[in-house]
Amino acid sequence: MRYLLALAGNQNSGKTTLFNRLTGSNQHVGNFPGVTVEKKEGPIKNHKDAVLVDLPGIYSLSPYTSEEVVTRDFILQENPRVIINIVDATNIERNLYLTLQLMELQIPMVIALNMMDEVRASGNSINVARLSEHLGIPIVPISAAKNEGITELINVVISQAESPKALPRLDFCTGEVHKAIHSIAHIIEDQARSAGYPLRFAATKVVEGDEPTMESLRLTENQLDIIGHVTDEMEEKLGTDREAALADMRYSYIERICADCVKKHRETNEQVRSEKIDRVLTHRIFAIPIFFGIMLLIFWLTFDVIGGRLQGLLESGIDFVTGLLGGWLAEVGVSGWMTSLLINGVCAGVGSVLSFLPIIVLLFFFLSLLEDSGYMARVAFVMDKLLRKLGLSGRSFVPMLIGFGCSVPAIMSTRTLSSNRDRKMTIVLTPFMSCSAKLPIYGMITAAFFPRHGALVMISLYILGIVTAILSALLLKGTVFKGNPVPFVMELPAYRIPSAKSVLLHMWEKAKDFLKRAFTIIFLASIVIWFLQSFDWRFNLVSDSGTSILASLGSVIAPIFAPLGFSDWRASTALITGITAKETVVSTLTVLTGAAGEAQLSMALNTIFTPLSAISFLVFTILYMPCVAAFAATRREMESTRDAIFTALFQTGAAYVVALLVYQIGRLFI
Ligand code: GDP
Ligand code: MG
Repeated sequence: MRYLLALAGNQNSGKTTLFNRLTGSNQHVGNFPGVTVEKKEGPIKNHKDAVLVDLPGIYSLSPYTSEEVVTRDFILQENPRVIINIVDATNIERNLYLTLQLMELQIPMVIALNMMDEVRASGNSINVARLSEHLGIPIVPISAAKNEGITELINVVISQAESPKALPRLDFCTGEVHKAIHSIAHIIEDQARSAGYPLRFAATKVVEGDEPTMESLRLTENQLDIIGHVTDEMEEKLGTDREAALADMRYSYIERICADCVKKHRETNEQVRSEKIDRVLTHRIFAIPIFFGIMLLIFWLTFDVIGGRLQGLLESGIDFVTGLLGGWLAEVGVSGWMTSLLINGVCAGVGSVLSFLPIIVLLFFFLSLLEDSGYMARVAFVMDKLLRKLGLSGRSFVPMLIGFGCSVPAIMSTRTLSSNRDRKMTIVLTPFMSCSAKLPIYGMITAAFFPRHGALVMISLYILGIVTAILSALLLKGTVFKGNPVPFVMELPAYRIPSAKSVLLHMWEKAKDFLKRAFTIIFLASIVIWFLQSFDWRFNLVSDSGTSILASLGSVIAPIFAPLGFSDWRASTALITGITAKETVVSTLTVLTGAAGEAQLSMALNTIFTPLSAISFLVFTILYMPCVAAFAATRREMESTRDAIFTALFQTGAAYVVALLVYQIGRLFI
């Protein structure tokens, strides 16, 4: 019989690392709070019936963030047989806060006390047996990263699942809160049962005044009245409000048991080291210049020193293969249109995009270094003050940084933002951060028009994206998204040396994604585009693509872009196909111009654009609505088709306005 095990714990406590150990899978591990945004599941190694679910990292069971809601709903509705609560032993007090709440759910639990390697190395110790006795829960000390204690943990978990020996103890509270919880438990007993809530959990939530729980309990007027009296009395006697009263109770209990079980002479080596590093990297004055320095270094290495060179190599490789194929097709005597489809359609289209693989992989390499080392969390912290001026919080910075790689994971990572307003606003702005799929477009245009100022144009485009985001934020803050961002709360994880495995895995995943796109969407798009531009409406092969089906379709929308300086039907067609995936802009233009190789493409582009309209085209491409995948992510995260469409329209509108300004103002000078 299949049964579920839930893995729950604070953010950055090592959940994913443990999940990978327990299931033998390869999920992405990151030293950044909130990396795991979707729940993942897999069977425990050698115990195929036990399915482990990796839940998002949370600090409490109060539904402040959507992850807390996910976790709570999962545990209440799916009824896992055992909860594995992973506790970061280097931050044990804060981690146990969640433990106490999980205990109220009255589901058999096992604590995996993680990071014991760090505790040991710093000469601290934890009396595990004693702690287990206090909580009434089996505890297994482990180190997920070092693969210690995993077998032991599996054994304990499986034996709990097969015959639970103990349910967590409950009565750790005393005094007024204790009285309130107990009297309310009596009052709501029946409703808690019919709503399917563990009684103790329901009672605590009612004392806390937790809205969703109160609603689903369907309490009567009368009951609400009595509950009001009980909590009022509690608040009065304690002199604090209800939420604080419960938090106090939990923390004082945690303090008491930790005093008994935890010997902490000093902070762990990692914590000491992190403090030293932070004195520099989060320095009041130097922090921001250092960050920009690091980003510049990354871009320089990616686009120029390493990535640029690798790209050149790959390009010649692709040209060589195309040449070989062309020669062979001619030799065999394949018909003209088939040769054209393969060479001018497929090879040109896919090839023009494929050469960007090294740059994209490299960009993700650096982004994952930033994330895994723990630096990304600092950046969020440092940027908080600046972003607050724009109506956002430091938390929003991370999705934006990830957005330089790809908008899809960036938009998904907004799930870690606790307020709906902050989340939606971040989703609207993130796609302005130029994603890696747009790089081929910049590459193509700069090669054709500004071969000697490539770097300058690229950097200006990135900056333009950021400036547009800033201006949009200012605009939205005063209109659609009134209100204030939530205060910044994010724990700064200890700096850790990123594991080579994790980084390589991340790069490989991105490379795979990119290759998959090149050989599916872009491959298909290249063929379709070739077809539409090779035939007219009566399906005659045309010699001049200006009379093709595509030309007549493209000409319908082309006039819209005339004020931006490019009214050629090929440009507007490329923009439309670019919505499937941004790289398609390049493959489309390559196919449409029938260019073989970069030199020919550059010449052809010079007939479509002037240098100024080429810039206006670039401006439009970086800002207009992101690809369908990002649009789908937007819709999913905003949970509203209307809002997603608004977002796409807003982005496209902004693109139009900025490109129009660039072109019209530019014309005054040129
Ligand atoms: P999650 O956010 O809870 O899923 O945590 P992750 O599994 O992504 O891990 C967060 C960070 O802690 C990563 O940098 C891991 O390499 C590191 N880590 C996880 N477990 C251990 C451990 O037992 N010892 C040490 N020293 N580091 C660990
Ligand atoms: Mg994780």
